Amino acid sequence: MSQKQILIHYGELSTKGRNKKMFINKLAEHIRYRTQDLERIKIVPEYDFMHLIWQETPYQAVIERLETVPGISRFEPVYRVDKDLDAIKAQALALFEEVKPAAGSSFRVLAKRSDKTFAYDTMDLQREVGTSLGLAYPDLEVDFKTPDYKLTISIQKAGAYLSLLSYKGVGGLPYGASGRALLMLSGGIDSPVAGYQMMKRGLEIEAVHFASPPYTSPQAIEKTKKLTAQLAQYGRSLTYHCVPFTEIQEEIKDKVHDDFSMTIMRRMMLRVMEALLDRQQADAIVTGESLGQVASQTLKSMRAINQVTSVPILRPLIAVDKNDIIVQAEAIGTYEISNEPFEDCCTVFAPKSPRTKPKLTSVMELEALLDVEGLVERAVTATQTEVIGADYGKVSNPDFSHLL
Ligand code: ATP
Ligand code: MG
Repeated sequence: MSQKQILIHYGELSTKGRNKKMFINKLAEHIRYRTQDLERIKIVPEYDFMHLIWQETPYQAVIERLETVPGISRFEPVYRVDKDLDAIKAQALALFEEVKPAAGSSFRVLAKRSDKTFAYDTMDLQREVGTSLGLAYPDLEVDFKTPDYKLTISIQKAGAYLSLLSYKGVGGLPYGASGRALLMLSGGIDSPVAGYQMMKRGLEIEAVHFASPPYTSPQAIEKTKKLTAQLAQYGRSLTYHCVPFTEIQEEIKDKVHDDFSMTIMRRMMLRVMEALLDRQQADAIVTGESLGQVASQTLKSMRAINQVTSVPILRPLIAVDKNDIIVQAEAIGTYEISNEPFEDCCTVFAPKSPRTKPKLTSVMELEALLDVEGLVERAVTATQTEVIGADYGKVSNPDFSHLL
């Protein structure tokens, strides 16, 4: 039976000192979760690498999963053969056959030998295998410094291990290794990207969406559920909360001067977020804010809004340009969903000319007209929660045609 193997390089978590064991365990747990529908994969964590070993499942199925697992900087499929020169040459040729290198590209062979009983030393082995590749591919050049293809051969006790291709991981830290936060998910382009960035940094995320029916449609809620499902690809199934925001927005519209309604609406959102944070035992709020993008995202606005809470608000996009955010949204598959045309609660109630420099004393005076505590409590109590997996909305309906 052929044995398949992938070697994982941790990247940044390899510098995490005493916590390293916890990080490695989190990564192993997440890989176990992401491959649970495949044959059981043996996970062997070491100090600097992690080995995945299995028998039958094609490499591609495992590669696809690992490409979305945070905490992996890169990984390499490794092919094991017997410690026999002909077997090693044959496997080397098979690997080159698979990648089909273009004429004129360069390669090198790098051999390592931890089993010193093997008949060839590293120089001999490199020469032998390099020559056989050179004969099979006369159009390739040898380049020791910056080769297009580097074939690594490692001679170990259990066999010879060859690898040619290296895949980039998403980097960052293992999912859940940094704690839990609540993502304010609006349905726009920015907040899903912000969520992705923090998940990549090891945060477990729950999504919170503020909806104002009937001013906002059920499709707007559906859209944020689809975005949540897309984000779940990089973590586990995500908890999703839908906060009924209509009463608060109507109260603000009735009682507060238009100029300040946006600032007060945001302050109310944060108050609800803080209450949910305690309930869900999370320690930070994540938003998609980017400095100067809209009126609520000027420094003075943010200060007036932020004043209601002391919990950390993480804004990974604060210094990112819109165009770069769009590129990221496309890469993680959220752009198309965000572009669906349904209105957000902020847009529906948007004042004509919101203050970009709201004065805190005026904001607080106006806010005193509202039953802040009661409004927050009712919104939190009526919040609806469900769990959304990566396959949400993608599972095709069962076929009942044979019953008709
Ligand atoms: P986005 O593209 O994420 O909607 P935006 O550029 O449209 O952001 P705003 O609408 O001002 O900016 O929202 C700023 C941030 O506030 C959002 O990134 C999101 O984190 C949060 N937010 C706004 N509206 C909602 C909502 N209805 N539910 C939950 N969070 C929201
Ligand atoms: Mg928005």
